[in-house]
Amino acid sequence: MARRESAAAGPGSRALVVDLIRSAGPISRVELVKATGLTQPTISNIVRRLIDDDVVRETGATVATGGKPRTMLVINSRSAYGVGIRVGADTLTCVVTDTRGGTIGRELVSAPPAEKPEDVVAQLAALYRDVTHGLGLLPQSVVGLAVVGPGPVDVARGRFLALPGLEQWADLDLGQTLTAELGVPVLVDCDAAAAAVGEFWGRQVSRERTFGCLYMNSGIGSGVVLDGALHRGASSNAGEIGHVSVVRDGARCRCGNRGCLELYAAPAALVSRARATPGLADRLGIRPDDQYARAFDVLARAAIYGDGQARALIDESALLLADGAMTLSNLWDLDTLVLAGPGFAVAGSLYVTEIRRRLAGRAFSRGLHTVQVDLSSNPRDSAAIGGAALVLQGSVAPGHGPQVSAPQS
Ligand SMILES: [Zn+2]
Repeated sequence: MARRESAAAGPGSRALVVDLIRSAGPISRVELVKATGLTQPTISNIVRRLIDDDVVRETGATVATGGKPRTMLVINSRSAYGVGIRVGADTLTCVVTDTRGGTIGRELVSAPPAEKPEDVVAQLAALYRDVTHGLGLLPQSVVGLAVVGPGPVDVARGRFLALPGLEQWADLDLGQTLTAELGVPVLVDCDAAAAAVGEFWGRQVSRERTFGCLYMNSGIGSGVVLDGALHRGASSNAGEIGHVSVVRDGARCRCGNRGCLELYAAPAALVSRARATPGLADRLGIRPDDQYARAFDVLARAAIYGDGQARALIDESALLLADGAMTLSNLWDLDTLVLAGPGFAVAGSLYVTEIRRRLAGRAFSRGLHTVQVDLSSNPRDSAAIGGAALVLQGSVAPGHGPQVSAPQS
């Protein structure tokens, strides 16, 4: 059932209006009054402020529906830009998006393991400068940067606690150091959470949808957006579906638990199993020194092209992911679930088919509604795009995103 905001002009009203224009625009002031339950003067005030702030613009088109012609409102896509950097196993992906979530710049660089914390900061700062300068963006038009990677994250302190390959930098105050270095607000957040916000924002999803994102990269995570806001939990580490036990007393996981879903279904596990299958890695061209991400792409491609052994591994993973999707869907009573992350970049169609089948047949609320399952249109970049969306949401629709504010000078 749809949840409704309070009709009072509270602090969330601006975010509510931005969300409606974002998801339903072009839309008129009269339609906003009807949709929000706010009064006409309140809507007029909020819209005037949004136009003054360049967040919203009038299209110039008017629609006459029997009475007075109505001026239509849309999000001003080029009023501000967000930057997201995804930290991968050996790469950094930097994406710049406009306020509607459209990607206007992207750069992928290799990132060899850093020897000192300063090297990590220098690499990230250089990439940010390279991309924003290359696009000719005015510094004041960039609302912030989000650096996203695998959790757990300490969002409040701007730290990754166990970034694979960078575990030794768990006490590096990345957010604070980069903010001081770059002069823009910098958030540090979980890749799956960012991807959820990015998919929600970029797809112009209505805040009335209960929206979930299942994210697969080196691990498996998820994010859920409720009433337009990411559900964060006590420490911003909600949604760790990859660390739900699927095998009681199974293998020990890096998280400390045993038998976690990602130990059996995530790319690194499948690559290990492919390597352990006599002759398979050689036949597919997976080299001993290949990073798991490249090796997984090779395996997934072979599955798509009909290699029986590769297909069996991906099918097994898809069945396990379908278990995870069922758990998510039943916990949250989802309207929509999007699959995102590099793990779905090649064989996403196999995963989406299995998950759709499972939810259609077994989801708890299937007698009441279907759960729409979609593949991200850009699974590889979804977390970086989501990072940009996080800072934009916090800037143009404050009230349900993380607040971003200019660093103290
Ligand atoms: Zn675990």
